[in-house]
Amino acid sequence: MRSALFVLICAGLLPAACEFEMVIRNGHVVDPANRRNGPMDLAIASGKIARVATKIEVAADCKTVDATGLYVTPGLIDIHGHVYANTGIPAELAGETSFMPDAVAPRSGVTTIVDAGTSGWKNFEDFRKRVIDRSRTRVLAFVNIAGLGMSGSRNEQNTADMDPEGLAVIARKHKDVVVGVKTAHYGAPDWIAVDRAVAAGKLAGIPVMVDFGTHHREARPIETLLMEKMRPGDIYTHLYSGLRYEQLPDGKLNPVLLAARKRGVLFDLGHGNGSFFWTVAKAGFDEKFLPDTISTDLHLRSWMDGMKDFNNVMSKFLIHGVSLEDVVRKTTVDAAKAIGRPELGTLTVGAEADVAVLKVEKGKFGYLDNRKQKVMGDQRLTTELTIKAGKAIYDLNGLAADEWKPGTLPGARMQ
Ligand SMILES: [Zn+2]
Repeated sequence: MRSALFVLICAGLLPAACEFEMVIRNGHVVDPANRRNGPMDLAIASGKIARVATKIEVAADCKTVDATGLYVTPGLIDIHGHVYANTGIPAELAGETSFMPDAVAPRSGVTTIVDAGTSGWKNFEDFRKRVIDRSRTRVLAFVNIAGLGMSGSRNEQNTADMDPEGLAVIARKHKDVVVGVKTAHYGAPDWIAVDRAVAAGKLAGIPVMVDFGTHHREARPIETLLMEKMRPGDIYTHLYSGLRYEQLPDGKLNPVLLAARKRGVLFDLGHGNGSFFWTVAKAGFDEKFLPDTISTDLHLRSWMDGMKDFNNVMSKFLIHGVSLEDVVRKTTVDAAKAIGRPELGTLTVGAEADVAVLKVEKGKFGYLDNRKQKVMGDQRLTTELTIKAGKAIYDLNGLAADEWKPGTLPGARMQ
């Protein structure tokens, strides 16, 4: 019986069974890692990217997604979020303003979110157990040089707990998910936090992300940080805050930013609820000094403020003339490079099938900064479908879903 069927298939009398799990058709692929930017189909098999081509012929039983009018990009990467959510443990041990990553990331096309130092090297393993290992979203981490991470200002300032060796041990043990070191919110006039974070980065061979704090700008000049303390590949976050002399009194961006970029320091947006002001961002757009990576600094307060979500943050660049390709580059391949994970942020054949299907809406939209002042724009990026390892983890309008069949019994799940 089986051989007769095989003969019919070979003779072209019956269509071959579908070789793909899903085929996204008629979309506009934007995949900067592979210099793709145009109408293309994309096929997924065994959770990996199987083909990307102008036209992919498929058997009649293939699951297809019609992406007409939509953009198909690699799953987005947010390199600055806070997702050590309080899962019932005392607030002093966990970032109490964190989100569970699956509650937020997939709705913005994000398949990889990097926690930016909410946990420190002492409580990282708790974070891993409670959140990282339980999430469908890929969660990576910058580990805070402060032992207990962002668990209250007292712990963040505790230099006795800033131990490069201790952090390096954790980073090596968990190198599958630890991508860097974080220092943040340091309030003393000395360089202890930065120096120890860089020492840990050197020991573990990973970059450091610096939130430079807002105190002691004379005792700790930003020039010293960017030109002497940070290494090429280290990441300066909160680029458009203006609170740390990123902007000079005449309104121009501090030229040291450009000098630091020339020596290889990377700049991250880190929008947050106190680090994105139109006065600074507009100077950045005017001077064409854009962040290397666009990120949210996701936490409860930024979510409820002008940040809102990742697509909203990306839209702020679109409405200022940054091309969708460049916005996608800064949230995929360049983000992957910054965290040393070049296998991510790409639609290369064989890569894990992390895919975002995005829509650019046209209309009148308002965008708030952290002073709650708005700038109007004519575009808004939204997410239709998010696919992680070949499976739909967010599907706003059921693009990848079957039509409801009357009489279908409850309880049966499609995926
Ligand atoms: Zn942050």
